Amino acid sequence: MRRFFMAAALAALSCSSAFAQPKVDYSKLEIKTTDLGLGVYLLNWRGGDSLILVGDEGVLLVDTSVAPMGDKIKAAVARISSKPIRIVINTHAHADHFGANELMAKGGAMIVAHDKLRERMAQGQYLAAFNQTIPPSPPAALPTVTFADAMTLHFAGETVQLFHPPNAHTDNDTLVHFKRANVIHASGTIGGDGGYPFFDMSSGGSLLGTIASEEKMLSLADAKTRIVADEGNPASSEDLKASRDALVMIRTRVQKLIDDGKTEDEAVAAKPTKDLDARWVHGAFLTGDAITRLAYQSLKGAKPPAAR
Ligand SMILES: [Zn+2]
Repeated sequence: MRRFFMAAALAALSCSSAFAQPKVDYSKLEIKTTDLGLGVYLLNWRGGDSLILVGDEGVLLVDTSVAPMGDKIKAAVARISSKPIRIVINTHAHADHFGANELMAKGGAMIVAHDKLRERMAQGQYLAAFNQTIPPSPPAALPTVTFADAMTLHFAGETVQLFHPPNAHTDNDTLVHFKRANVIHASGTIGGDGGYPFFDMSSGGSLLGTIASEEKMLSLADAKTRIVADEGNPASSEDLKASRDALVMIRTRVQKLIDDGKTEDEAVAAKPTKDLDARWVHGAFLTGDAITRLAYQSLKGAKPPAAR
């Protein structure tokens, strides 16, 4: 019951507040475009933010947003490049990241994603974390190229490295590293707008996997790297390091409460995140109590992420 209550509370928040809120008027949402340099642009809307890489041979698009935003994404791309969208990468199987896949595929794009993302799209999903049922996607929307651990694309003079961090934000995440432009899409494994990251256990996510994903991104990053979350301005490598440190502290403190035999409610009452919340809680999104519950549940049921 407690778990269900928390899931309902999170439904209004999610990794992307836009798709979890049933009455969003997408016709009113505008896409803000930011030039990150060397052909890479960030497309902000209100969750599930996209990246594009443009070059003479066309456009590579990371995440297609929800279906009603597809035409706006295309229009935003067209304002930057007259070339067609040739390649789409879906970072994970939350609906604000693959919703307009079919539109892009019909325009000739090849869709690339993790093996498990294709499975989840093909079979349909119930995401308990959002109390959301996603029906099976039509075949035309499915990725046609999938990978298990890592893949490298060479496009528009850029080296685009794809890495799968196991059981992180979900069980089907792809970190997208634009090496030359020094930009990483975090696939929801760093919090949007500088908040705590959310790990969706109903989609196979976990606290330990999210920490491992942040470690992986730190291994790729230098002082100038921009790390793209689902929402807001890109994070710096300093922000990423601080997020990793906060998650490690939460892991250590909540694990101690578990080892001491505390119940979930007792762990929450102990306020193990109280010195962290001023930086990492923004509004109602993932409060200290909520991240403590998530951490408790994840660590109780945790299996270490599979070796990469
Ligand atoms: Zn997500």
